Amino acid sequence: MKFDVVIAGGGFAGAYCARALGRALGREEGRRRVALVAERNMLVFQPMLAEVAGSALQPTDVVHPLREFCRDVTVLQGAVRRVDWAARSLTLDGGRFTRDHTVGFGHLVLALGGVTDLSTVPGLAEYGWPMKNVADALRLRATLINRLEEASLVTDSALRARLLTFVVVGGGYTGVETAGQVNVLVREARKFYPALGGTPARVVLVHSRGQLLAEIGPELGGYAQSVLERNGVEVRLNIHVGEITATRVLFAEGGALDACTVISTVGHAPNPVVLDLCRQLGLDPAKGRVPVEPTMRVRGQTELWAAGDCAAVPWRDGDEDKISPPTAQFAMRQGAQLGRNLVRALAGAEPAPFRHRYLGQLATIGRHEAVAEVMGLRFRGFFAWWLWRTLYLAKLPGALRKLRVVMDWTLELFFPRDLALMFPPAEDILRAIHLEAGEPLFRRGDACRAVFYVRRGAFALTVPGEPPRTLAAGAVIDQDELDAAGLWRCDAVATQSCDVTVFRGRALELLRTELRLVRR
Ligand SMILES: Cc1cc2nc3c(=O)[nH]c(=O)nc-3n(C[C@H](O)[C@H](O)[C@H](O)COP(=O)(O)OP(=O)(O)OC[C@H]3O[C@@H](n4cnc5c(N)ncnc54)[C@H](O)[C@@H]3O)c2cc1C
Repeated sequence: MKFDVVIAGGGFAGAYCARALGRALGREEGRRRVALVAERNMLVFQPMLAEVAGSALQPTDVVHPLREFCRDVTVLQGAVRRVDWAARSLTLDGGRFTRDHTVGFGHLVLALGGVTDLSTVPGLAEYGWPMKNVADALRLRATLINRLEEASLVTDSALRARLLTFVVVGGGYTGVETAGQVNVLVREARKFYPALGGTPARVVLVHSRGQLLAEIGPELGGYAQSVLERNGVEVRLNIHVGEITATRVLFAEGGALDACTVISTVGHAPNPVVLDLCRQLGLDPAKGRVPVEPTMRVRGQTELWAAGDCAAVPWRDGDEDKISPPTAQFAMRQGAQLGRNLVRALAGAEPAPFRHRYLGQLATIGRHEAVAEVMGLRFRGFFAWWLWRTLYLAKLPGALRKLRVVMDWTLELFFPRDLALMFPPAEDILRAIHLEAGEPLFRRGDACRAVFYVRRGAFALTVPGEPPRTLAAGAVIDQDELDAAGLWRCDAVATQSCDVTVFRGRALELLRTELRLVRR
């Protein structure tokens, strides 16, 4: 399988590039010469994901099938594992039966965006809910509803308060919009949960800087903060999350918050496939973005191009030379321009530099409220919200999606948000957990639902009347610690920061029966 042009990445940059290139070449030639490689066969309209998490929109409202959007090129679904530049080919993982599929290319476009790396804060990977794609938004929605359900089961007021505390980490666009939507959902849903009594739902937005939405300026950032606070969101600025456990958020500056749900909108990291290719070519990807010429040709290469979040595309903003910001607005326009540039390059003509007049930014901050900076003018409140919806609706590809979104937005004005929990968060049979010193793994008399492998840290196991024992990294806490009734016979409490692997359900059964690793 070989194409003249392979576009890697089916986000805004890749999809708009493929569409422009395919349209220029015509369907037959486009499908023969151009391939769009996408991890999922759909274009995700990320700016609307917060509304999916907040149950204001359906997931199908914010996606568009790439085979429909880019119908003049060949679409290949699969994850690019590696680009072999010397062989001018990439390896694609298409699924269970097509793991190592090789695709050759003449020109390659990198439009792979970034990835989320939650490993920088201990416990964030284990307990943080990321907000990057549709699956994340759906999982978060399910988690929010599940927390309300669980909170209405318990009578312990401290546990109920913890279950009803939702912490959003990051005060950029995604964090602010997500906090606004989570707040609307959990507050409006309360009337359907009478058992919650007077326990308030808390949404806390935590930001490491002194101002929200730094990109949009202090005035609108301050306005966004005041609206969020007026709607009940607690905004904490200049504070860093140091560690997260199943039930607590610990701050680097000291202090902690009891919360069972932490939503992470931070941790943007470079795409590893892009980094690997940069290594092969000896390129220095400053801040994880490939250095390109204004035409989006990678520096020093004639057949390698890059656009969108994974590329450092030079951009002239008035009289100033800058690097394009990583936003949907820029990715779409770079993609379309790159498609046209490739048409020129294939015809032996000179590609044109990327030019774009910055249009502004918008962010919703709750029901019927937003902030907007458009063509240098600043708007806020209801008008900004109306503007946000109108502009995004106009940008949404496909008449069917537009119609669906208008319907959902109209219904949302008159009806409560959908609380049906179609896919409750599945409990992993094998998962990692993180505990801070003093936190219990289990208490004496608790039922045994899992066994534990201590990867890092140490636990004190105490049985009344016996000297305490310490289990360090490498130890297994298993059936040896059970009493005759099958309950834990000791307290297991972390004596330091710990990482533990938990085996449950089928994984536990396999360990016991097939591998005989866990003693009966
Ligand atoms: C929740 C959220 C809200 C946002 N809100 C706004 C907003 O309001 N306004 C705004 O301007 N911007 C917003 N952004 C940012 C904006 O979405 C990005 O700047 C834009 O999507 C970048 O486009 P891209 O094509 O470069 O990358 P992406 O859209 O990230 O696309 C990259 C594509 O490559 C695919 N991919 C990655 N690795 C591989 C691989 N190995 N193999 C195959 N495919 C791969 C991914 O699945 C993805 O489809 C938001 C982002 C998020 C996550």
